[in-house]
Amino acid sequence: MVSELSSISALVTGGAGFIGSHLTESLLEHGATVTVLDHLESHTPKDIPTQAELIEADVRDTETMDEALHSVDVVFHLAAVVSVARSVEDPIGSHTVNADATLNLLELARKHDVRVVIASSSAIYGQPEYTPIDEAHPIQPESPYGIDKATIDQYARAYHEFYGLETVALRFFNVYGPGQTAGDYGGVISIFKEQAEAGNPITVDGDGSQTRDFVHVSDVVDALLLAARTDHVGEAFNIGTGAETSIAELAETIREVTETDSEITYTDPRPGDIDHSVAEITKAREQLGFDPGLSLRAGLETFLG
Ligand code: UDP
Repeated sequence: MVSELSSISALVTGGAGFIGSHLTESLLEHGATVTVLDHLESHTPKDIPTQAELIEADVRDTETMDEALHSVDVVFHLAAVVSVARSVEDPIGSHTVNADATLNLLELARKHDVRVVIASSSAIYGQPEYTPIDEAHPIQPESPYGIDKATIDQYARAYHEFYGLETVALRFFNVYGPGQTAGDYGGVISIFKEQAEAGNPITVDGDGSQTRDFVHVSDVVDALLLAARTDHVGEAFNIGTGAETSIAELAETIREVTETDSEITYTDPRPGDIDHSVAEITKAREQLGFDPGLSLRAGLETFLG
C-alpha cells in the first residue's frame, strides 16, 4: 500500500475521458507521477496535462499494456465503452473492451504486482429490489454493459482471493460534472444542461418520478484516491451520495441554476428504465473514509449557468 499520493506512480487508462481527466489533474496536483493511456478517439493530446506522460493506445493492446504496467504502483482502470445503448447494439464489441481487456489488465497487474482500482457501476444491480442499494444487493444486470461491469467487478474480487492482488472496485452511481458532454453517453445532466443553455425544451422521459443518485466528479476523484491507499482491498464500494433526486426535480433545478425559462416536456417513458436508484454508502464511508461533499445544487453550480 502507498500512503502518500506524492510518492506514487499511477497509470490512468481512459485518462483523457470525463472522469480520467479529472483524476489525472488531481493526481498531478498531489505530486504523483502519472501516465495516461488513452486511444484518443474522442479527445486530442492537448486534453492531457503536459506533466503527464501519454501512451496513445487501446486497452486491448496487450503488449503496450504490459509495458505500461511495468513501472507503476497503481492503475486506475477507467477506459470503457460507456454506453448501455451501444452495448445492446454490439454486445461483443462492448465485452471485448469492457470485460476482456480488464481481465487481461488484471492478469498483467498480477505479473507486475500493481494495485488495480476498477470502475464498476450501479448498472450491475439492474432494477433494484430495494433502496438504498447496499453492496450486498443481488447482482442482476439488465444490459450487456451491466453484465460486463458485473464481470469485472467479480474478477477484481476474485483476483484478490485467488492471487492476493490488491484490487478495489468502485461502483459508480450517476456521475456528473464539468467536462461531461451530452454526446454518445453523457447522462441526463449533460443532456438537460445543453437543452437549457440552448433555450430548448428539457425532455423528461416518462413522468419524471424516477430517481437517481447523482454524484459529482470531484467526489468520485476523492473516492479513487482513497481506493489507491485503502487497506480494504478485494472489496467493492458504492460511490454515490446517498441522496435521491427525481428527474422532474432535476429538470426544475437545472432550469433554476441556468436561469433559463426552458419548457419542461414529458415524453414516453424509456423502455426498461430503472425506477429508483440510490446508493447506501455506509461501507465506503466507514472503510474508505469517503465523504461526498457536494449537494446536487452546489455541484450543478460548479459548471452550469
Ligand atoms: N432521462 C430523461 N431525459 C433524457 C435523458 C435521460 O428523462 O433526455 C432520464 C432517464 O429516463 C433516466 C434518468 O434520466 O430515468 C437517468 O438517465 P441516464 O441515462 O443519465 O442514466 P441511467 O438511466 O443509466 O441511470
